[in-house]
Amino acid sequence: METYDAVVIGAGQAGLSASYHLQRRGIPHVVLDADESPGGAWRHRWDSLTMDDVHGIAALPDADAPGTPDGRANQVVPAYFSDYERAHDLPVLRPVRVDRVEERGDLLVVHAGDRSWTTRTLVNATGTWTQPHLPYYPGAADFRGEQLHTVSYPGPEHFAGKRVVVVGGGASAVQLLGEIAPVAADTLWVTRREPVWRTDDFNPDAGRAAVALVEERVRRGLPPASVVSVTGLALREQERAASLLGAYERHPMFSRIEPDGVRLPDGEVWPADVILWATGFRPAVNHLAPLHLRSEHGGIQLDGTTAVADPRVQLVGYGPSASTIGANRAGRVAARGVAAWLARRDTEDV
Ligand code: FAD
Repeated sequence: METYDAVVIGAGQAGLSASYHLQRRGIPHVVLDADESPGGAWRHRWDSLTMDDVHGIAALPDADAPGTPDGRANQVVPAYFSDYERAHDLPVLRPVRVDRVEERGDLLVVHAGDRSWTTRTLVNATGTWTQPHLPYYPGAADFRGEQLHTVSYPGPEHFAGKRVVVVGGGASAVQLLGEIAPVAADTLWVTRREPVWRTDDFNPDAGRAAVALVEERVRRGLPPASVVSVTGLALREQERAASLLGAYERHPMFSRIEPDGVRLPDGEVWPADVILWATGFRPAVNHLAPLHLRSEHGGIQLDGTTAVADPRVQLVGYGPSASTIGANRAGRVAARGVAAWLARRDTEDV
């Protein structure tokens, strides 16, 4: 069986950037992607998310940024990725869902069902979309209404005439409330912490500070926080109607879920038909469990993009690089890390 110098898992922004930089360095590799076609997680984003709604998608290396500001993000970005893969002739295989990566002596073996790939190094670029985070609240199992996570947001029509609780203090909660509040019978927005509103335009210094904070967590081996969620919230024109309806009046988290609603800290029950959990995602890294990369603090400790517990492994799109711009840079750094490992091995062989 062929031994690759590198296997990249995932063909979102992070995986494509890594593959581009590996190719530039002449490092033979393959990219394994679980999806049926190009686009990474963007393929699965809800239909009402336009390119105008997203914070900005960085151009992939050596490419222009995707255009079409009023286009649907789940169409524009997949088309952009597809063109990119073709233009650079990137070696993407799909659909291949990796279920585990194991160590075999000096090598790593990547398994997907009954198929496997042997490699000297690994670049993991599996994002977070497949790991929606649903916090536990007492009574959740007895709720008679519907509970869903943003990962399966069906569009605003689904909520017409309903009483909807939206949970979560990030940009997704703000956007979804903007769509739901004008058609719902009523909405209740609950968050654990007081939301942080941005009063001015996006401030790059605040963005950099947010990334530095997550970088520091990952350097210490702590579970990463979301970079895209810590840059402050802003209301845009498309949220004006919801704002006039009072949808952005934030309430503290409910204390428990009752069969017909949620019990607020003051003891009152707010009757609800739907609870929408806009509570974020976690890194999709379960397939790496056999490599024992996690630190005692519960996260994977990284030095740059290199796993401290096993320097053959690079993680991109993880922690501080979980944004399109971060993913781009991480791909470049990871390719350098792979090259450094391969060079070291060659020197030791001599
Ligand atoms: P993804 O795009 O998730 O790609 C991961 C790929 O890995 C997928 O193709 C998937 O099929 C594959 N995969 C997963 N598991 C496996 C497996 N086991 N085996 C094989 N393949 C696997 N960032 C911005 O910069 N601007 C924004 O406006 C913005 N908006 C966002 C809005 C939402 C709702 C969310 C959730 C995130 C947003 N982000 C934004 C973050 C951004 O989308 C990602 O951080 C960025 O695109 C990097 O993606 P990625 O390559 O790490 O992951």
